[in-house]
Amino acid sequence: AAKSTGGQLVEYTPALDERAEAAERLGADLRHSLDDGDFHVVYQPIVDLGDSSTVAVEALVRWVHPVRGFVSPVAFIPVAEDNGLIVELGEWIMRTACRKLSEWRRVLGAAAPLYISVNVSARQLSEPGFPAVVTTILTETGLEPAALLVEVTETAIFGGGTAIEAVESLHRSGIRIALDDFGTGHSSLGLLRTVPVDVLKVDKSFVDEIAEPGGNPVIVDALIHVSNGLGLRAVAEGVETEEQAVYLRDLGYHYAQGYHFGRPSPDPILVATVPAAPPV
Ligand code: C2E
Ligand code: CA
Ligand code: CA
Ligand code: CA
Repeated sequence: AAKSTGGQLVEYTPALDERAEAAERLGADLRHSLDDGDFHVVYQPIVDLGDSSTVAVEALVRWVHPVRGFVSPVAFIPVAEDNGLIVELGEWIMRTACRKLSEWRRVLGAAAPLYISVNVSARQLSEPGFPAVVTTILTETGLEPAALLVEVTETAIFGGGTAIEAVESLHRSGIRIALDDFGTGHSSLGLLRTVPVDVLKVDKSFVDEIAEPGGNPVIVDALIHVSNGLGLRAVAEGVETEEQAVYLRDLGYHYAQGYHFGRPSPDPILVATVPAAPPV
């Protein structure tokens, strides 16, 4: 399959074919799994750095395929975007997450998390009926718009099409918007003036610089000023150590998320508050 041209090994055509075929098989499996109920939603706490209380949760999808086993969303979300399945899958994730918050409210009342954060991809945003679908889900689950935070990436917003309009429409209806992985895209800070944004999720790669030998936490430092200056809320992502948490709090961060506070799990809220049944 590889052929040599002038001493350089080029392998592109067959490799591309194989990759396309693999993606196609993955896409077909996604379709079956959507019908068979192989997807799950897990929730990761977003905490107040002041007292480590959970103020919100982020919904993250999980796929456990009967043969493939666990497949990372990093591997299958792009495939689901390409073949369009993300529209149906994403709607299911949104509905499942909203139902969960609704359940927490039923059980815990005011002690439930304040909002649920749901990732939305470029393809979903450019689907014409998307804002209406979201509104319907909120009505169905009895949640007010402020109970939902939609996480979008800079790349998704600038993917072209009508993504920006969708974000504006969601925002007008009272749903809040977070810019995910902030600082890793290719856009400028000017984006924050043109798109209605409520929350900045400061990417883990910048948090990683804290308390690392040779690390330089200058970006997390700068971004809290940007966020405060624009009247936004900042959430630091991927906080793995107490040292990072303390450092961020001292910089002025109010909110954080990461393994240090809790990994994504099926129900971090009720498991943490309702004691397990005593052994019989
Ligand atoms: P993301 O939205 O930036 O989500 C954060 C990712 O970082 C999650 O990985 C989470 O489990 C992981 N994480 C959280 N805290 C830590 C930490 O302290 N250390 C480390 N190493 N990782 C941490 P996950 O669940 O594998 O998701 C990866 C990406 O896949 C997400 O990045 C998001 O872009 C996408 N994704 C996940 N669920 C969904 C979904 O429901 N819809 C869409 N459209 N995309 C999703
Ligand atoms: Ca996210
Ligand atoms: Ca993120
Ligand atoms: Ca990420």
